Amino acid sequence: MPVYTSEALILRTYKLGEADRIVVFLTRDRGKKRGVAKGARRVRSKFIGALEPMTRAGVAYYEREQRDLVRINYIETTRSPLSPSSGEALGHVGYFAELIDEWAPEAHADERLYRLGSSMTDAIAGGAAIEPLARYFEYWILRLQGVYPSLAACAGCGEPLTGGAVMPPRDDLFVCRTCAPAGGSSLSVEALRFLKGAGATAPDRLDGLALQARAARELETVHRRLMNLHLEKELKSARVLREMRRVNQ
Ligand SMILES: [Zn+2]
Repeated sequence: MPVYTSEALILRTYKLGEADRIVVFLTRDRGKKRGVAKGARRVRSKFIGALEPMTRAGVAYYEREQRDLVRINYIETTRSPLSPSSGEALGHVGYFAELIDEWAPEAHADERLYRLGSSMTDAIAGGAAIEPLARYFEYWILRLQGVYPSLAACAGCGEPLTGGAVMPPRDDLFVCRTCAPAGGSSLSVEALRFLKGAGATAPDRLDGLALQARAARELETVHRRLMNLHLEKELKSARVLREMRRVNQ
């Protein structure tokens, strides 16, 4: 049985039998894995505190021939996304982890996706404002998948998108306001400015990027449409976050 130790991000867990958990984790070097954490649901489990979504950890696991599930030996937390002040971040770690889980290929290393996820853990742990961080993360994960529409020019007339942009209904591209049909989702000049900045900013430098509430909502709507289109479903955690906001308003 070959043993591997990997730097990894915990994505999610679910119950297995009476006392165990299945842990889904993204390794830096060998892609996404699923493994059994024996006794993880016992009170004195060695896995306690290490299984929150977006925890960065060293994971040691055995691969067994002809089996998809690996056997986890230990998980050693190197950075937890959750600090005492992270009330709002709590709902988002599940959302970030679910997005990575949806897009990470099984057992196939994706270094850029790993680095993006890992930098989110650092940003949340460091107390970054969660709303710009979430829009930044959506932008980048869609870009890494190659499904973010071009912001360079209108897909209709080719003019630069200087006065804002519109994503027409049922289309995943941006057009200028002149070419826009009725009923699309708009991005204001502020929202476009944020995206431009996000493309050139490391996540630990996000503080310098302004994002007003209205522009954040516009981006959220456009990103949700892109994700639903490419994942062909709505993420559960995204729905929960939206409902939470409705309750808090
Ligand atoms: Zn146009």
